[in-house]
Amino acid sequence: MLSLRERRAGLLEYEVWLLREAGYRVTGHSQDSGLAVIDVIAADEKTGIGDLRLEVTLPASYPLMPPRVVAPDLDMRHHQNPFVHDLCLLERSTENWDWQWRVAGLLDKQLKKALAAGTAAAGQGLHEADQGEPFSVYYTYVPGMHVLIDSATIDVGISGHGDMELYLVGPVPPPRGERLLGLVKSMRSDGALVYEAPPALTAMYGDQPVTARGRWVVLDEPVRENDAKAIWDAARSADPQPTRAFIHSGRRLEARGIGFPEEHARGRDGTGWVFVLKEEMQQTQTKRKTRAKGGDPRKLAAQKSSDQYHLARAMRAGRDEMTFRAPETLGLVDQKVLVLGCGAIGSVLTEHLARAGVGELHLLDMDELEPGNLSRHAGSFQHAGVAKSIGMAKRVLDINPYSRVQAFNLPIGAPRLVDEQRTETDWLREQMDVVNLIVDATAEIGVHELTSALALEARKPWVMLSASPGIGGGTVVRIDPDARGCFACFQWHQRHGTIPMPPAVEIALVQPAGCAQPTFTGTGFDLALVSAQAARVIVGRLLRGTDGGYPEDGYDAHILTLRDKDGSPQPPHWDGFHVARHPKCAAH
Ligand SMILES: [Zn+2]
Repeated sequence: MLSLRERRAGLLEYEVWLLREAGYRVTGHSQDSGLAVIDVIAADEKTGIGDLRLEVTLPASYPLMPPRVVAPDLDMRHHQNPFVHDLCLLERSTENWDWQWRVAGLLDKQLKKALAAGTAAAGQGLHEADQGEPFSVYYTYVPGMHVLIDSATIDVGISGHGDMELYLVGPVPPPRGERLLGLVKSMRSDGALVYEAPPALTAMYGDQPVTARGRWVVLDEPVRENDAKAIWDAARSADPQPTRAFIHSGRRLEARGIGFPEEHARGRDGTGWVFVLKEEMQQTQTKRKTRAKGGDPRKLAAQKSSDQYHLARAMRAGRDEMTFRAPETLGLVDQKVLVLGCGAIGSVLTEHLARAGVGELHLLDMDELEPGNLSRHAGSFQHAGVAKSIGMAKRVLDINPYSRVQAFNLPIGAPRLVDEQRTETDWLREQMDVVNLIVDATAEIGVHELTSALALEARKPWVMLSASPGIGGGTVVRIDPDARGCFACFQWHQRHGTIPMPPAVEIALVQPAGCAQPTFTGTGFDLALVSAQAARVIVGRLLRGTDGGYPEDGYDAHILTLRDKDGSPQPPHWDGFHVARHPKCAAH
């Protein structure tokens, strides 16, 4: 196989030779600081639109990565960056580039097609991928400067102009490694509310007052200049009202939100948004200089030097955006799950459920998080010393602010009351009445028996997950209230071998210093397989019968093999089983 160095030997001369052989006119080439540039003129037979000047730049990773082709004299509506004039000859993914094509091959294959498509009306004659070209991606934004919006409401039928309220947190402009994260709280038009941020996003800004007020406007088309001041000026001339200055991070600022039609996906139009913060720069004049010039000090102080304009990217943060990448989980918004046990497997499972968008999570655990847990727990060091249930509740909201979450720091099976009125079974029954599914991740057989019996009474599905000793394997079992087999049946099946036990590896438990009990050893990434499988079972069960919901594989029990009897690792392997009623089970 040729190394990258071998593939690049004599590269530039070879590319130029290939281009000339293929009938292109090469007017110059240079190699500067690792980037090779070739100036090419493609004649009408190559372009279909007459002679065209091209600047081809080969990255240091060429030919494994494709060249950049700029047509500086061309201005197409599609398939070309409107500001730097790159041609879109390939879809973005590198799988569309074949390094053996070389520059000449790429131009022969793609140039004429791209030019024909780029000059055609939108949506017509496009030869390419199922991919939209949102105009807003071409602007150059201040790194780290973002304003959160919710597509679900901001893209629907908002037009005209009006007042805007913003939260701003962070410096303007942010130094490297920091950020300004804004949030559009509301937009009004003639006093009527046309957009309001979801309460989940507003809640992230706590009790802080709204820091900024500005103006918004929807233009007929995007500003075709990659310049924050030009965008600001276009907005100001389309909006009759002036903006008012406010003070943020020690700066005197004004704010505008600018919307414009753009393509969001292939053939699907929406509204693109950008935000401009204008920073007033006061001219600093020393008193001495003022006196020396004999001018009026007040007048001079009011003089401004050139104002700064900062372009912030709109960052879409609606609930829809957070499920867009996994549409099979959409229905989870209305679901509530009780998770008993926020240890290693329970916490990682909880994190999966939060990411999948389960609407409400009730979390129970009796322990506090210790740094030693973190090798396999989904919590973070900043929550060390916090009750695991409370730490995980915070983690859930960190991941998905649209979740509702309750935390309970309680043991199960202790001979005491939860509060003055209730026993723990009262509490469990109340919980099971309000949730759609119960998860038992306590790794305590006694608790499994109790909670599976209570879940059956409550007529709710119950899912247990556990790892076998030494993490040789794991178990995920789901018992539905109308199923024939119960959890006791499942245990009888394992005793009699109709459902196998997951492999157990003989290893000693370890007792970390200061802990009351020994614990098992094993890695977080092995345990995570059990948590992920439980998430699949739970999400499939919650969405059973919904259109397009995440599918189930039809099994009640899943047994994982990670090690064989000698403890040698195996490729992870799951087997599925039905839990039939067992003749020996006394519970029927
Ligand atoms: Zn049974």
